[in-house]
Amino acid sequence: MPVIVQKFGGTSVGSIDKIKAVAQKVIERKKMGYDIVVVVSAMGKTTDMLISMAREITANPSKRELDMLISTGEQVSIALLSMAFQGLGYDSISLTGFQAGIKTEGLHTKNLITDIDIRNVRKHLKEGRIVVVAGFQGINEKGDITTLGRGGSDTTAVALSAKLKCTCEIYTDVEGVYSVDPRMYPGAKKLDTIGYEEMMEMASLGAGVMETRAVEIGCKYNIPIYVAISHGNAKGTLIKEYDETMEGKAITGLTVSDNVLMVTINNVEYTSKNIALVFDKMAKHNVNIDMISQTAPYAGHVNISFTASIDDEYMIDAVAKELKAELVGIEICKDSSISKLSVVGIGMMKQSGVAAKVFNIFSDYGIDFKQVTTSEISISYTISAENKQKAVTVLAKELEL
Ligand code: ADP
Ligand code: ASP
Ligand code: MG
Repeated sequence: MPVIVQKFGGTSVGSIDKIKAVAQKVIERKKMGYDIVVVVSAMGKTTDMLISMAREITANPSKRELDMLISTGEQVSIALLSMAFQGLGYDSISLTGFQAGIKTEGLHTKNLITDIDIRNVRKHLKEGRIVVVAGFQGINEKGDITTLGRGGSDTTAVALSAKLKCTCEIYTDVEGVYSVDPRMYPGAKKLDTIGYEEMMEMASLGAGVMETRAVEIGCKYNIPIYVAISHGNAKGTLIKEYDETMEGKAITGLTVSDNVLMVTINNVEYTSKNIALVFDKMAKHNVNIDMISQTAPYAGHVNISFTASIDDEYMIDAVAKELKAELVGIEICKDSSISKLSVVGIGMMKQSGVAAKVFNIFSDYGIDFKQVTTSEISISYTISAENKQKAVTVLAKELEL
């Protein structure tokens, strides 16, 4: 029988009724003659709730213990969903990441899947069961429970599909991938198809509908990923290898990332050694630097600005302390009311003038931007967070997204 992996996100399994509805939906597919692996996330906002409980205990909880804690959310939903199948007369088994053979390595809370020993999943499929696997978790070499980073159930699902060589269906709370987050711009257009590269770029620049690494795995193993709504039958979006027929406009999508901290270091004596020192120290503390800008030297001094994830603030503070001790006269300020807006499109590789168009729109609507960076298929701008909604609306409208 053909195999299929179906993943249901947190909102889609957010209540007992929704879990029962998911079970019905999966069974409809089972009746069509498929062997099914279902991957589920934790119910509703469970993961957020568990993280805030940990933070109430201590400001900087051990990452190993955090993994132990936040992996429990998925264990609840797999057991309940499996019971729902059994209640409807279907044989089913729930498996934790470990039981499903998901091996990982790396830093706790940010583990990467290294391999999946698929034998147990295959065995249960062969014996006619619907296999329900906990998303977001695995096991490392030491035998410790690990998690894959927020939104990591998508990664579990696509990795299982890659191992089982089958299609992956991601069911969520919107009808598919849109040109813009439909919650920010209700007029956004649903895309029928999108190429892996564009989807990866959109995901990494803030389109939370898919986890970036999940798309990367899909791309690497050429696994078609179908994104659609859980509770409903509307046609979704197929993420697949790019082909010429998909080429249209220069810009496919607009994304927003809020998790941004902008750091400015003023009055740095201008030597390349000093600039190197700043970024060297950030790198040594594992701070992931995103956009960098620097003023022209004035009276032998420059100001440097860069953005990083707000999650790295703790580390940045530590580096700031060291820098102040070493670079006399510098002044360091942080601004967390920053949003990063990005326009993404594979068409940009062949068409010029996209940046100019966006600059003009910003200028026409009086929106100031702070920094700009480009990749082959995207251009990103940092703006003040208070202008975010206005910027999204005018860009989406003017660029017909
Ligand atoms: P799940 O719990 O099912 O994994 P997520 O919350 O992770 O769901 O992802 C779905 C959400 O992604 C939507 O509710 C939507 O607000 C958001 N989103 C952001 N960008 C986009 C986009 N370009 N297209 C569709 N949804 C998007
Ligand atoms: N429950 C995890 C999270 O909230 C994983 C997921 O939902 O994909 O990030
Ligand atoms: Mg998600």
